[in-house]
Amino acid sequence: MNPFKFISAKDTNAAIAAHHQNNQAAFLAGGTNLMDLMKEHVALPNEVIDLGRIGLKEIKETANGVSLGALASNTLTANHILVRKHFPLLSKAILAGASAQIRNMATNGGNLLQRTRCSYFYDISMPCNKRKPGSGCAAMEGFNRMHAIFGWSDQCVAVYPSDMAIALSTLDARIKVSGNGSQRVIEMKDFHLLPGSHPEKDNSLSSGELITSIELAKNSFGKNWAYVKVRDRNSYAFALVSVAVGLQLDKNTIQSAKIAIGGVAHKPWRALNAEAFLKGKSATKANFLKAAEMEMAAAKPLSHNQFKIDMSKNTLVSALEVALKG
Ligand SMILES: Cc1cc2nc3c(=O)[nH]c(=O)nc-3n(C[C@H](O)[C@H](O)[C@H](O)COP(=O)(O)OP(=O)(O)OC[C@H]3O[C@@H](n4cnc5c(N)ncnc54)[C@H](O)[C@@H]3O)c2cc1C
Ligand code: SF4
Repeated sequence: MNPFKFISAKDTNAAIAAHHQNNQAAFLAGGTNLMDLMKEHVALPNEVIDLGRIGLKEIKETANGVSLGALASNTLTANHILVRKHFPLLSKAILAGASAQIRNMATNGGNLLQRTRCSYFYDISMPCNKRKPGSGCAAMEGFNRMHAIFGWSDQCVAVYPSDMAIALSTLDARIKVSGNGSQRVIEMKDFHLLPGSHPEKDNSLSSGELITSIELAKNSFGKNWAYVKVRDRNSYAFALVSVAVGLQLDKNTIQSAKIAIGGVAHKPWRALNAEAFLKGKSATKANFLKAAEMEMAAAKPLSHNQFKIDMSKNTLVSALEVALKG
């Protein structure tokens, strides 16, 4: 690990001010991703600003929903009564990720900002445009079984790994952030970016902006929801494909469907074609299959991940069936 200065910020303003003084610094939350990246020499901050004392750990009811503190742990969030009651989909998605020990350390803000698990990104002997812009993409012609089938570019074919964020996408979460003298809210759909010609940029945060909370509005699919994750082993593995679904039903008619797919793109992939098709339709397996086929028609597989097309289709249909049962 490279040498770095360590400071412990006393509050949000102090953390932001410290970063403003040194834009080579990195915020440290649970450390479960940042420390690995630093040990592998992928992240090389010359200063680490610990967020452990700044608060932002509260989960509370708001006028129309629930606010999740950015520094609340994934374990606290998944098990919190407000989350279990109003957003069971989010609880299930968080608990599908990592292991109990990692979820105890991992925070909501850190989870949103975790970096891709592309093995070439972690291997500093390999070309990687995300780690070193302009160096090339080893995955493009390499072993790209885990990689994207939607939204990739000739610069990067990596996928975004978070389970929690796939549920947050379906829930249309809003991310509150603070910068040097400014505050803003970023819609979940705009938070993560496709790689385009700048794969080094994962999200729309400006340098030094701090996530303070994740805001969720109450929805009408407390009963009809599902999170289905397909992976190589049943624990401690990232998704090959995952699907989060929320359905609003009137008897057997779908009033609205919210669907996001994980493991297939550089950001949570909202299945907008499937959502549009299902609106107003009967909740039947035939319609679920048609919706899945429509969504997957635009997929562009790489040399080793053609299988993700059928896997996504089948997972989407399964998730819709689970959601329908309620
Ligand atoms: C073995 C292993 C298996 C895993 N399996 C899964 C899995 O199956 N599914 C899954 O979803 N995840 C999985 N994870 C990833 C894990 O969920 C993330 O590492 C964790 O959520 C990151 O949170 P953290 O608080 O530890 O972030 P950190 O490592 O502290 O930070 C991550 C990044 O976010 C930045 N940051 C943190 N908080 C803020 C903030 N409030 N504002 C601005 N920037 C901030 C940091 O500067 C850093 O760049 C796994 C991790 C490991 C090590
Ligand atoms: S897919 Fe992206 S992260 Fe992986 S090697 Fe290519 S540029 Fe790097």
